[in-house]
Amino acid sequence: MAESVELPSRLAILPFRNKVLLPGAIIRIRCTSPSSVKLVEQELWQREEKGLIGVLPVRDAAETASVGPMLSPGVATDSGERSSKIPVSTSDGKNQQELIQWHTRGVAARALHLSRGVEKPSGRVTYIVVLEGLCRFSVQELSVRGTYYTARVSRLDMTKAEMDQAEQDPDLIALSRQFKATAMELISVLEQKQKTVGRTKVLLETVPVYRLADIFVASFEISFEEQLSMLDSVDLKIRLLKATELVDRHLQSIRVAEKITQKVEGQLSKSQKEFLLRQQMRAIKEELGDNDDDEDDVAALERKMQGAGMPPNIWKHAQRELRRLRKMQPQQPGYSSSRVYLELLADLPWQKGSEERELDLRAAKERLDNDHYGLVKIKQRIIEYLAVRKLKPDARGPVLCFVGPPGVGKTSLASSIAAALDRKFVRISLGGVKDEADIRGHRRTYIGSMPGRLVEGLKRVAVNNPVMLLDEIDKTGSDVRGDPASALLEVLDPEQNKTFNDHYLNVPFDLSKVIFVATANRIQPIPPPLLDRMEVIELPGYTPEEKLKIAMDHLIPRVLDQHGLSSENLQIPEATVKLVIQRYTREAGVRSLERNLAALARAAAVRVAEEHAVSVSKDMHSIDAPLLDNRLADGAEVEMEVLPMGVNNHEMSNDFRSTSPFIVDEAMLEKVLGPPRFDDKETAERVTTPGVSVGLVWTTFGGEVQFVEATSTMGKGDLHLTGQLGDVIKESAQIALTWVRSRSSDFQIEAAGQINLMEGRDIHIHFPAGAVPKDGPSAGVTLVTSLVSLFSQRNVRADTAMTGEMTLRGLVLPVGGIKDKDWYLGSSYPRT
Ligand code: ADP
Repeated sequence: MAESVELPSRLAILPFRNKVLLPGAIIRIRCTSPSSVKLVEQELWQREEKGLIGVLPVRDAAETASVGPMLSPGVATDSGERSSKIPVSTSDGKNQQELIQWHTRGVAARALHLSRGVEKPSGRVTYIVVLEGLCRFSVQELSVRGTYYTARVSRLDMTKAEMDQAEQDPDLIALSRQFKATAMELISVLEQKQKTVGRTKVLLETVPVYRLADIFVASFEISFEEQLSMLDSVDLKIRLLKATELVDRHLQSIRVAEKITQKVEGQLSKSQKEFLLRQQMRAIKEELGDNDDDEDDVAALERKMQGAGMPPNIWKHAQRELRRLRKMQPQQPGYSSSRVYLELLADLPWQKGSEERELDLRAAKERLDNDHYGLVKIKQRIIEYLAVRKLKPDARGPVLCFVGPPGVGKTSLASSIAAALDRKFVRISLGGVKDEADIRGHRRTYIGSMPGRLVEGLKRVAVNNPVMLLDEIDKTGSDVRGDPASALLEVLDPEQNKTFNDHYLNVPFDLSKVIFVATANRIQPIPPPLLDRMEVIELPGYTPEEKLKIAMDHLIPRVLDQHGLSSENLQIPEATVKLVIQRYTREAGVRSLERNLAALARAAAVRVAEEHAVSVSKDMHSIDAPLLDNRLADGAEVEMEVLPMGVNNHEMSNDFRSTSPFIVDEAMLEKVLGPPRFDDKETAERVTTPGVSVGLVWTTFGGEVQFVEATSTMGKGDLHLTGQLGDVIKESAQIALTWVRSRSSDFQIEAAGQINLMEGRDIHIHFPAGAVPKDGPSAGVTLVTSLVSLFSQRNVRADTAMTGEMTLRGLVLPVGGIKDKDWYLGSSYPRT
């Protein structure tokens, strides 16, 4: 221990430039100058018992402005002055004098480790010395021994015995307690950063406090002056006080530094990240040749928003969102969603509408007539509707709802209304919409949220007063995700739709200028409140004659036009169209008729083009063939002449004109459309046995023929029903059987068939096709006919189909939808 060290009266002195070795500290120094090498060799290296040396702080005299008395060899300096200057000869031996300032107090040190090295090019010997500071001394007299100094010294630190005595001093006890507390605090702060402080804690408990003061201070980075003053604090109390102050200061500085680093680190990492991302973005943009800056994009967006004519409160909202966007980086998660939202706000037609012209009713009527054959009443209703709008543009008329099977012209009527009003037309398909959000949009908090279909549609047409077709309004259904119908209710209500609230948009949009038209296949599924807002106009479907007319006047010209043909190259005679209607379509509308006609036009187009090609290649052959062959034989490239498009077209159409028109006949029909899909003989064939009758049924796709088959077997008089029947149709069968039984004598069927209708026979009625569910009351008459036919063993007419509900008393109730149900029986409407 240092306190038990016997300090010799003379020590070799190692100057320690601008640094202080404190007792308890351990340092590692490299000795390279000749004097220090000599000192190490003589005082430490060659001695068996490693001796002590004195480490004395020195500083360059040039650094100090005020210089104290010089300490020169042989001069005693125990006068309280602790620094002095002496001339020292420099290492290069040029005898050049340089002033250095010696401190008069130093620390005796013991070498813990010595190692010798040789510098490579010069061969100079150097030493690395690890020294441990032991105790303070003061220099009594400095003298030169060879190339290094020695000094007569006296011990300053107390010995162990003295120390033990001093420790009783209450002041010292208080001071040391305070020091320990501060030191402890420092340790716990450091503990959070490093794991090694555990050892320091042990030190704190085992090493005496006066020693600790030196050790602690030695481990900080403090100024040379402070180190010196620590070295000079020979008095224990002063030393402790100073050390406490230094430790405390260090502690505070660590805390402040920590705070600052935290702050700076946060800022730094954020801005560094930003910088990095921007760099990357720039690189990507450069790579893409896309140099316009993102800032410009946002500015362009703002300009677009300014031009959108938003109402003031919405403009405010939009600006708020824009400010948010400006603060974001393009790579930030919310950026694109915010941007897409603002784009939508900018795109929506807040003010923009189609210019409303004075409505010309006559022109509107003409247009409707030109576009649609028949539909007289419906067109009349539309004209009335338009007339009211003309007289009172802001009239809250009912919403028209066209109801009918597919292909009867619902959509095209709606678009004719738009054309008549000179407005844009937008179709919103509601088929299969089960989620309210499809109409009202998702809130923006959801990922992938979108505006509803209405807002989307308005964005598409870019005017706020289009004719908006709500297509297939009967196909919306409600489930757990809400009820689209109730959202539609708000849309169609003129009171509410001024401030229609789309969840995504989150600001009200005025729908009151939109003209809504709806379509549906059936009325029943439409919720009553919704139906209440609409005026239903039924389009029942077309008779074959009407279909023929529509085909000749509207569909064929349109189909020809779509395929680049004219009546000069293709003719489809009426007789052929009739065959198409009879054999290839069974529908209330004309959609599949149009499809079949299009198939014919396609086939004809190929023919016409081929013919043209043949005539062209013939010409070529006669002129160019030898040349062409030769060239090919030579392996040279064949040059082709490209004709200008206009000239080519012109010539082509001339060519077409020269060939005679292509007429579609029955043979061609089969070639293109295949064998007939339906044929009129089918019914006759199926109705060859008694008990089979023909009914008419209605589906969403129009009318269908429904056969009813009845047969009887031995049994107990039961009724069996098959063919996926609903309750209503089952009851109809029961009614029919009861009625026939009750009237059996009137029909004389008992006698005719020798059948006991009451007992002994089970009746089985089947509705093919067995897999298709059927229901409804209108099979009543068909069932009766079938049963009477069975019991009387007479066949039913094949050219008649029937429909109608029958009561138990035999009354046939009025029927509806005959036109819908009819498909090909011509004018022979079913008798009920
Ligand atoms: P829907 O909307 O009822 O399903 P569309 O309006 O799409 O039917 O009509 C199908 C096709 O039939 C359209 O090309 C339409 O022009 C044509 N069409 C339907 N009815 C008529 C008609 N009365 N006169 C002329 N073309 C018609």
